[in-house]
Amino acid sequence: MKKSVAGIDPSWLRDRTAVVRVDFNVPLEGGRITDDHRLRAAVPTLELLTDAGAKVVLLSHLGRPEGRDPELSLAPVAERLAELLGRPVRFVGELDPAKVAQAVAEVPAGGIALLENTRFLDGDADNDAGLAASWATLGDVFVNDAFGVAHRAHASTSGLAQAMIARGGDAVAGLLMAKELRFLEEALRDPERPFTGILGGSKVSGKIGVISALLGRVDRLLIGGAMANTFFLALGHHVGSSLVEEDSLDLATSLMEEGGERLVLPVDCVVAHELRPGASARTVALCEVGDDDKIVDIGPETRALFRAAIASSKSILWNGPMGVFEIEPFDEGTIAIAEAVAEACDRGALGVIGGGDSAAAVERAGLADRVTHVSTGGGASIKLLAGSRLPGLDSLTDEA
Ligand code: ADP
Ligand code: MG
Repeated sequence: MKKSVAGIDPSWLRDRTAVVRVDFNVPLEGGRITDDHRLRAAVPTLELLTDAGAKVVLLSHLGRPEGRDPELSLAPVAERLAELLGRPVRFVGELDPAKVAQAVAEVPAGGIALLENTRFLDGDADNDAGLAASWATLGDVFVNDAFGVAHRAHASTSGLAQAMIARGGDAVAGLLMAKELRFLEEALRDPERPFTGILGGSKVSGKIGVISALLGRVDRLLIGGAMANTFFLALGHHVGSSLVEEDSLDLATSLMEEGGERLVLPVDCVVAHELRPGASARTVALCEVGDDDKIVDIGPETRALFRAAIASSKSILWNGPMGVFEIEPFDEGTIAIAEAVAEACDRGALGVIGGGDSAAAVERAGLADRVTHVSTGGGASIKLLAGSRLPGLDSLTDEA
């Protein structure tokens, strides 16, 4: 277990400074934030710290700049964050360490400073120890609340944790990080059964770790999305011009052998000739996919089959859309599954959703609030589910 910010004595925090890595990598259009979920997700940790009288120095990356790029400045984020918190947030646009330190020194106890995009400095992604050390000198404790980048070893994540510990300070998990771990790791370690896994998305190869990890733990594993196509082909079905991974056929075969009846594949599908909104589509059985057909969604019989499996589950873990959900009407299968998960959660089941596109799909369907936990970390949630180590987490101080 890693130490959490909730475990720090609030009286210790008074007049101390916390350096906090958050994931404020929000979508921007013309300097306007189009989705502030990630800012809202950080609020509990920031309120805990400032209510206790600590000064907060925030670090985040935004996009993938090469050097300073005004379009990827965090200045608009500081403004929106101040609105959400109802407190001033001082934006520090300088990159020079001495100027940054001076600006931070001017912030009063209980106040908040947001530093400029960490990736304006090459040393962040390069995990430069000197850069990490200069950030560590800004405070007394490091709080990592950036679950979304926990799978990366960067100067502002694991590097900073190590630098803070080297100076004698603690590096602890923020409340969001702790919540993500509670659901993705702990809740699924000993799940109430039946436990159903749902996997979809574009590739088998990118998610082998997740498939194997889940196969050993679930009572059944429902497979949809383009991932299912590779299984279809391995079974000798025709997949036409669908997205498929021909070099993963052996893998699909061995997963089916391992999974046996626990692994449930679609029984019908929706096909189209083109991937564009409103393209004409038909529902077909698996044996009826033509040469020009692309499988774009799970069919109605499959939806009913999957819905029934979800309805009878006490724990559900879902990653990967069931179809090309970005294009209407190929989002119907994904929405049907999202509804089934939300309904199961309404009845008290545990429902956890990981993966960037999957989270976007349930948000878009307006169902996220009804699901127990929708992870804020795309790649990080997949890595964690696959049982991989996360540097951003491993580098934190162990609970005494
Ligand atoms: P997540 O981000 O939730 O982990 P992935 O990135 O693995 O999910 O997969 C999401 C992508 O998979 C989406 O872009 C979606 O369009 C694509 N996809 C799902 N089903 C199909 C399909 N049948 N054919 C082509 N692409 C698909
Ligand atoms: Mg994705």
